[in-house]
Amino acid sequence: MINVQKIREDFPILKRMVNGKPLVYFDNAATSQTPQIVIDAIVDYYSNYNANIHRGVHALSQEATDAYEQARKKIQKHFNAKHPYEIIFTSGTTHSINIVATGFTNLLQKDDEIIVSALEHHSNIVPWQMLCERTGAVLKVIPMTEEGELVMDVYDQLLSSKTKLVFVNHISNALGTINPIEEMIKKAHTVGAAVLIDAAQSGPHIKPDVQALDVDFYVASAHKLCGPTGVGMLYGKEEWLNKLPPYQGGGEMIEEVTFEKTTYAGLPHKFEAGTPNICGGIAFGVAIDYMNSIGFDDIAVYENELLEYGTKRLLEIEGLRIYGTSKHKTSVISFNLEGVHPYDVGTIVDKLGIAVRTGHHCAQPIMDFYQIPGTIRASFSFYNTKEEIDALVEAVKKAKMMLS
Ligand code: PMP
Repeated sequence: MINVQKIREDFPILKRMVNGKPLVYFDNAATSQTPQIVIDAIVDYYSNYNANIHRGVHALSQEATDAYEQARKKIQKHFNAKHPYEIIFTSGTTHSINIVATGFTNLLQKDDEIIVSALEHHSNIVPWQMLCERTGAVLKVIPMTEEGELVMDVYDQLLSSKTKLVFVNHISNALGTINPIEEMIKKAHTVGAAVLIDAAQSGPHIKPDVQALDVDFYVASAHKLCGPTGVGMLYGKEEWLNKLPPYQGGGEMIEEVTFEKTTYAGLPHKFEAGTPNICGGIAFGVAIDYMNSIGFDDIAVYENELLEYGTKRLLEIEGLRIYGTSKHKTSVISFNLEGVHPYDVGTIVDKLGIAVRTGHHCAQPIMDFYQIPGTIRASFSFYNTKEEIDALVEAVKKAKMMLS
């Protein structure tokens, strides 16, 4: 069971005041907060063993290399990848997706089809559009329902021998819907398509098993998982990673370089050109350990409680509409007040020390579907409390009074 008061002590930022009020941080779907143990790991790295990795024989370089490769193993274990070299360190989900999208340039032909979903973040739309422009492949979209779920019948119809790739997020960042990825992966494989799951949002809520899922690519960012910004991961099945060409050329990703011909290093280095975010990778590993020490099962139970409580309390406000009402959703509540622009609500709520996100959440097609400019999004984490939700409800009521 979650001991939220004890957990809150792990996060120094939660003691902060904002605009004279205690901070209520409900922007977790954008970036999670950082526990002291991760902050300490960052300070320790720069204080004690800051050095470039993989190339030095000196002690510091070896210590940094060991810690970085240890972090890779922690991530491998957490996602249950078969081999550590199937985990590529990247700068985040966006970078990971672009490695795959660019890598498929020579593997696709004109009129091949790529399926994405209507619930995607822009970073899981734009790279595929760019891939279609380069190859002549065609982008197909699984539509969504009013509740914010994917229309699976249409997915079945879209799948054919022309389908080469399917890309879908595990959890929608704008609505919180949990997509039926197990079923989607199985179905895609029946037509021989590869599947990439964008786990940017599921990372903090669900402990995945990439082998059980039989997923081809799985991508996530550390900063949504209590880790630092600027680092993330790409999991790819070994055979796929061997098939894709390197994304960038440079140091570290080569076996041998001459002016006549260069040969590339094996996995994972083939995709890790240049000096990586060493400290970030190490801190990512510490963050994963931290989240596992809390326990993903307990996190899910507690966040679900917050979701139910928050939904009930917010719906007490007349004229408030929640977007995304699927039964399969995580602790994200996207809402609007009738006749009020979400940005105005966000501004007033911020004056009361409460951080929510307002806007299209990098998911403009979802906003177009509902014909709205954006929503106010409150996203809860395991360190949030029901009292904080009460504060949000009071703040939204105040905003409503001031704006209508
Ligand atoms: N996909 C989803 C579903 C996301 O929520 C995000 C981050 N908001 C991203 C991709 C992009 O992640 P990053 O900015 O860390 O690359």
